[in-house]
This record gives sequence, structure tokens and C-alpha cells, in this order.
Amino acid sequence: MPIPVKLPRTAGGEIAGTIAALGADVSGWKAGDRVAIQSNLFCGKCEFCLRGEDSMCLRGEILGVQRDGGFAEKVLVPARALVRLPEGVSFDASAALTLAGSTAMHMLTNRTQVNPGDWVLAIGGASGVGSAAIQIAKQLGARVISTGSTEAKRTLAKSLGAEFVVDSNDPKWPAEIRKITNKHGADVVVEHVGGEVLGKCFDCLARGGTIVTCGATAGKDVPLNLWPFFVKQHRLIGSYGRNRADLDVTLQWAAAGKLKPVIDSVFPLSQTAEAFAKLRSRNFLGKLLVRP
Ligand SMILES: [Zn+2]
Repeated sequence: MPIPVKLPRTAGGEIAGTIAALGADVSGWKAGDRVAIQSNLFCGKCEFCLRGEDSMCLRGEILGVQRDGGFAEKVLVPARALVRLPEGVSFDASAALTLAGSTAMHMLTNRTQVNPGDWVLAIGGASGVGSAAIQIAKQLGARVISTGSTEAKRTLAKSLGAEFVVDSNDPKWPAEIRKITNKHGADVVVEHVGGEVLGKCFDCLARGGTIVTCGATAGKDVPLNLWPFFVKQHRLIGSYGRNRADLDVTLQWAAAGKLKPVIDSVFPLSQTAEAFAKLRSRNFLGKLLVRP
């Protein structure tokens, strides 16, 4: 993340819990209310905030990066960042979906759109964004393809609704996507890895197709061949975080059973370091939760 972190800092942005206490000038909430938090903290005053685009805030901060976050028993946030947690959505489900689930919701319903019958390729079907993207695209009537690097990850992606899952270790996977779609290619690609993966997404993108991307862990600099880009009238769209509206919809879908979190394991707060060690080992499926 190209943001300097001032230490000490309590990390953690995917938070669910109950309100312990309110500031004197806060209305509309009461102690005990169950809430999730928009972790893209926003000013509420700039031109983008005023039209509901919290994720474009000119003075945005990330909870757990520029402000102390949720690996704690209590966290202090502006009231405007609160989102009501529907009955029937557990804290665990909320914590597992608020960031990755709403990021995918923002990508597929705000930054671009999916039409029934579209071929949607969700990169990394076992990842947070990928697992949510499969389910959201499926609900929107798309035919979903995903990628996975292990048999277990591919099986998970299928269980979430992907019709086909290709092996991302095979460097020729874009050709596989072309074959699956009868040479048409993917109409929408949900990409969150960057680097070489983003380049490969162009190799299996349909004419007029859209890549929507929200991450660059595999590399920030990506060469782009402009000729096929404009001849095939491709779109490349950036997506960052979410708006509260996306978070609201994500939690409503979770309450309705349309979107399920994938939770690998739950750690007590005292074992947060062990949770991170497991995260680094890459030997897990879905989300690791820390429960204070
Ligand atoms: Zn703002």
C-alpha cells in the first residue's frame, strides 16, 4: 500500500460490533445498535461525498491504516461511517463480507454493470473479492467463470456458482476462457491482482468488454498494447473500496441468503499474530477472522 503508516497503529478495517457509546452531537443511533463500518473513512463534505461517492472522497482515510482500526475491543469512528447491520447477519458474516463483498458489489453494480447472459470472469475465485464476485455476478444472471491455483480453490469457486474454473498455474488459461465462451471471450472481468494477470485478462476479453480492477498486489506497472485495446473497444475501469450504499446492499444480500461469506477460521484477539502467520502461509480458503 503506497500510504505511509505512522506507528504504533492498530490495524483492521473489516469491523462489526455494537455501539458502546456515542458522541454528544450524534443522532439516529443508540448504544447497543448492531453496526458494520465503512472502512473508507470519508469527510462527508466534499463534492464526491455530497453525491454519495464516499470512495472518491478528497480527504479519504483508511481505517486501520491512517487511523486505529479493529484489532481491538473498541474502535472510535465517525458516526457517518456506520452502516446498520440487518437482523440475521452475524458479526462473523459481516466482518467477512464488509470489505471484500462490498468491494465486489461496487465493482459489479456501481463501476460497471452486468447483463443477464454476460460471461463474467472472476479472477481468484477463492479470494475475498473473487468469491463475492462469483456470487454477485451469478445473482445478476451472468454465466460465471473463475480461476484458481489449487484443486481446493477451484472446488470452492464451483460451489459458489462458477460454471467453469480454470487453473491459473497454466499460463495458457486465457485460451481456455476463449474456448469455454466459444471464442466470444469474457464480457466483464473482475480483476484484483494486477501485474501479469491483468495483462492476461485482455487476452480473453470480448469485443466491447470491460475489465474492472481494484488491486495491484502482483504488480503496479502493466504494459498495455493500445492497438487491440481500441480496435476491440475494450474498457479498463478502476474501482476503489465502496460507498455506504454498496455496503448496505451487500449486507441486505447477506441477510437474504444471496451472498455467503467464506470463512476459513476464527482466532481470538490474543492470537492475531497467528492469524497473520496463516495469512502469509497462503494455506487457507476464504477469510480469517479475529474475534475480540
Ligand atoms: Zn469527502
